[in-house]
Amino acid sequence: MRVAALVLAAGRGERFGAGQPKAFLPLAGRSLVVHSVEALAACDAVDWIVAVLPAAEIGRLAAAQWSPVAAGKIVASVAGGAARQDSMRAGLTALPADVELVAIHDAARPLVRPRDVARVVAAAARSGAALLAVPVRDTLKRVREGRVVETPPREGLWAAQTPQVFRAALLREALAKAEADGFQGTDDAQLVERLGYAVEIVEGDPSNLKITWPADLAWAEACLRERRSEGIR
Ligand code: C5P
Repeated sequence: MRVAALVLAAGRGERFGAGQPKAFLPLAGRSLVVHSVEALAACDAVDWIVAVLPAAEIGRLAAAQWSPVAAGKIVASVAGGAARQDSMRAGLTALPADVELVAIHDAARPLVRPRDVARVVAAAARSGAALLAVPVRDTLKRVREGRVVETPPREGLWAAQTPQVFRAALLREALAKAEADGFQGTDDAQLVERLGYAVEIVEGDPSNLKITWPADLAWAEACLRERRSEGIR
């Protein structure tokens, strides 16, 4: 199957508070978006990569030191939009026309492992829609005005990660319906779920963390060091 990956890097990263787009923060000498693109490129199942960047940063990736395999797979850098879903739409319009599967990945998840990318791509090739996710470990509370109003049973609750992978036609249909309904999702699978389509879960790795707070970067550095010392990617 012809597989393209969209790496979404156009967020402002306001929760992080670095004063620059989060995807360009350095982790072990390379930006988060470069780590993410390299991890996707290292997966044999991925043929093409489109990076979706803040408009002011278009061109900034050109200076990155790409591995030959990543350099060969990057087909475009395009400007994202105000919301994540707008960035996804911008990336979709830049894909080669004959793409069959689209993998959408948060640039803010630089530690995704190529073997997990391959597993979720293989699942979507079979079922049409799949995402990496991990079972939630904490008990979750719904809170209003500082008070707990509900403790949903943890049983059956998973935390969604990326990549999330879909047949291209299914994703385009889901996005068109969300836009027609004025619906904004916090992930891509939600849009496909709204069509009534069964999305498959592939158990991922807890280290595929979304860098959100400054402390996450220190944790990610330590994780990378440990992987390098063990010779794993
Ligand atoms: O905001 P959040 O942490 O959910 O963002 C997840 C990913 O989506 C990040 O990699 C971010 O750069 C990207 N994003 C985007 N365009 C936006 C908002 C977020 O590409 N407008």
